[in-house]
Amino acid sequence: MTAIAPQAADAVAAARREVCALHAELTRWNLVTWTSGNISARVPGTGLMVIKPSGVTYDDLTPDSMVVCDLDGTAVEGAHAPSSDTGAHAYVYREMPEVGGVVHTHSPYATAWAARGEPVPCAVTAMADEFGDDIPVGPFALIGGDDIGRGIVATLRGRRSPAVLMRSHGVFTIGRDARSAVKAAVMCEDVARTVHLAREHGPVSRLPQEHIDALYDRYQNAYGQPRGTHS
Ligand SMILES: [Zn+2]
Repeated sequence: MTAIAPQAADAVAAARREVCALHAELTRWNLVTWTSGNISARVPGTGLMVIKPSGVTYDDLTPDSMVVCDLDGTAVEGAHAPSSDTGAHAYVYREMPEVGGVVHTHSPYATAWAARGEPVPCAVTAMADEFGDDIPVGPFALIGGDDIGRGIVATLRGRRSPAVLMRSHGVFTIGRDARSAVKAAVMCEDVARTVHLAREHGPVSRLPQEHIDALYDRYQNAYGQPRGTHS
């Protein structure tokens, strides 16, 4: 394993603590089952990322059990193997330098849309605020290699939505930091559920584009902060 430079040690330790703590949000919001789901964060100022270990239950996650990887997805520090989705996270960090955090879940309502291969239409104002668009569907891709990462980047690059429904699989979200990506995962499941419930009792219309644009601009800019950070 490559040693971590001494000047990066504090940033790595902070990322270990942050990524570990954020995993509690996935269970709090019922986005994950058993050991599924994972969060990673880019370590600022380094070519490193911190990600959940593979196969460790949520109750047993600690900052020390997080795995430090390079941006090729190779572990450089940690007692466990990194998440089996590490290659997808690493691909996103390599291709999208503005991304500081990546989240993956199989949250049930959003994944039901993914199973149908159907985008969630931008039908409510909260969705226009957060996503500024429909939540798109990405291609079907098998785990291993760069196919999942490639599908995420190809779908999200140049779009407003920080969430993609990977076909017949689940949700990947991105953010300027890991907390923003977690928020996007929480909101993705929330709006997927709302639009699903609405459709059980009748047709649902997408908001007119000019309303989506106005809502998104106000929400993303009026608070004077980059997207997804106000609360
Ligand atoms: Zn998955």
